[in-house]
Amino acid sequence: MNRRNNIRRLREEEFDLCIIGGGASGAGCAFDAALRGLKVALIEKTDFAAETSSKSTKLIHGGVRYLEQAFKKFDFDQLRQVRHGLEERHILLQQAPHLARPLALITPVFNTRAGLYYSIGLKLYDWFASGRDTLPGSRWLSKKEARSRVPGLTDKVHSAVLYYDGQLDDARYCLTLVVSAAEAGAVVANHIELESFEKSETGVLHAAIASDQQDGGAEVRIRAKVFLNCTGPFSDRLRSLANAGLPSRIRPSKGVHLVLPHEILGGNDALLIPKTKDGRVVFAIPFEGKLLLGTTDRDCNEIDREPLLEAAEVDFLLDTLQPFLSNKLNKNMLLAGFGGLRPLIAAVGGETKSLLRDHEVEHDPESNLLSLLGGKWTTYRLMAKDAVDAVCKLLSIPVECSTQSRLLAGAEDYDAGFWKKIQANYGLDADISQHLAFKYGTRANRVAALAKAQPALRERILSEQPFIKAEIIYAVREEMACTPRDFLARRIRLEITGWQAAGAASEVVATLMGTELGWREDKVREEMRNYQILLDRFRESATG
Ligand SMILES: Cc1cc2nc3c(=O)[nH]c(=O)nc-3n(C[C@H](O)[C@H](O)[C@H](O)COP(=O)(O)OP(=O)(O)OC[C@H]3O[C@@H](n4cnc5c(N)ncnc54)[C@H](O)[C@@H]3O)c2cc1C
Repeated sequence: MNRRNNIRRLREEEFDLCIIGGGASGAGCAFDAALRGLKVALIEKTDFAAETSSKSTKLIHGGVRYLEQAFKKFDFDQLRQVRHGLEERHILLQQAPHLARPLALITPVFNTRAGLYYSIGLKLYDWFASGRDTLPGSRWLSKKEARSRVPGLTDKVHSAVLYYDGQLDDARYCLTLVVSAAEAGAVVANHIELESFEKSETGVLHAAIASDQQDGGAEVRIRAKVFLNCTGPFSDRLRSLANAGLPSRIRPSKGVHLVLPHEILGGNDALLIPKTKDGRVVFAIPFEGKLLLGTTDRDCNEIDREPLLEAAEVDFLLDTLQPFLSNKLNKNMLLAGFGGLRPLIAAVGGETKSLLRDHEVEHDPESNLLSLLGGKWTTYRLMAKDAVDAVCKLLSIPVECSTQSRLLAGAEDYDAGFWKKIQANYGLDADISQHLAFKYGTRANRVAALAKAQPALRERILSEQPFIKAEIIYAVREEMACTPRDFLARRIRLEITGWQAAGAASEVVATLMGTELGWREDKVREEMRNYQILLDRFRESATG
């Protein structure tokens, strides 16, 4: 994960495979391909997981809504998608148990008929998952039990139905995939943007021309036998750079989340709101001590601007949650919010909410570009397997995928009580030890060792939060963080759980990063100012 060294290697060496895009798809492919012994390069235009892969609902799921649609419409594609999700669910939970956990979801109902409907549906969901993992089955809860599990629930509910899925820290899971890929031999670099391709006379790609966004756009030319497009919502742009004759395939759809105080629901369980005004489901999910509420689903063609939470979306989501609560919500409760773009594969007409979340590996015979299109976080491993199978076929290298049983970095020797070892060995507070164990797994030892060697790094970044200064140094040295936002949004997730807290932390973060990266004083100030401007934009957009 030494960026400078990796960029030198990107320029000097020739690769079997160059992957463009460092979200879930690209990181998953890099890990899979490196494990198969391929010589792999992975480049990402901003930061790993900076786009859709850090902005999901963070569910590892087959999709109860897709199951409902499958049965209502006799749609076998939807059914296959649910099966894929449920097959992968237990693998994701096992691969990185520090970053993924089982999550209980509660669907409140207002009459017996609805309770019966969801009970039967969720039993079917259990049945589809059976034999694949060990999550508890669904069950119908009395009103009393439902309200004791979700203290904020209104007493107007009749009862509720409980079922289980998984939850992950999406950005850290992606980063951990990148680190695991690098440890398996992949050469990875963030803030490297692909600008164009070099082609042979017949149009076959043989080099990528990219620019280093941390070095004034300096050119990085990468030679590879095969190029794999993993740019999610931006896939069409890359496809047309490779071959201008290719028709568009992606129909980006914007989805937003807002973040509220955890006390609004209380407890550890999530709420599933089964039907919104526009016929979707909405989740209210505990995440990082806060409550994540989302999402929406609407066509979006402005993919060059970061999709922001807008005031009308705040109103819509608050109005959707309100009937399920005993207390009144108001907009001042908003702590943060974010928007993401689903990379849905286009169908003719129809609404984005009904488009399949399944994936496809496309090969363009003219340019030899492979594109991994569509999909969802839950199926990233299967998507990567299919894409790297196609790479191996093009390279005539018959090596099988082995990711099914591989642990990711930090999962080695990890168990739920690991944080106590960190506490005992390094004398850190319980909340800090838990935070380090849950975010870094057994690699928490390395963060804690930095704090032990330099006591100033034991200090908290913010007095009321468990993040410590050693994490900033670790993020720069071991996780390729290059900007305060890389750290605050993707490494510790503070940006997506509290704008005010992220702003308050930015000075310490920029200053320590600056020391580590050799920034001049004016560069530190500029980084801080730019970050504050960004947070102001988020607030303005959400408040209208
Ligand atoms: C609101 C929302 C909620 C969701 N919830 C869930 C959920 O709960 N569970 C689930 O399983 N799935 C969920 N998903 C879907 C899931 O998040 C996505 O399918 C997945 O993250 C897509 O990953 P990706 O790597 O394909 O795309 P991305 O994460 O967008 O990665 C593509 C990367 O390519 C990079 N890139 C683009 N152009 C270039 C270039 N020229 N050079 C270099 N790099 C480039 C981008 O910077 C980006 O980082 C959700 C999606 C959204 C939007």
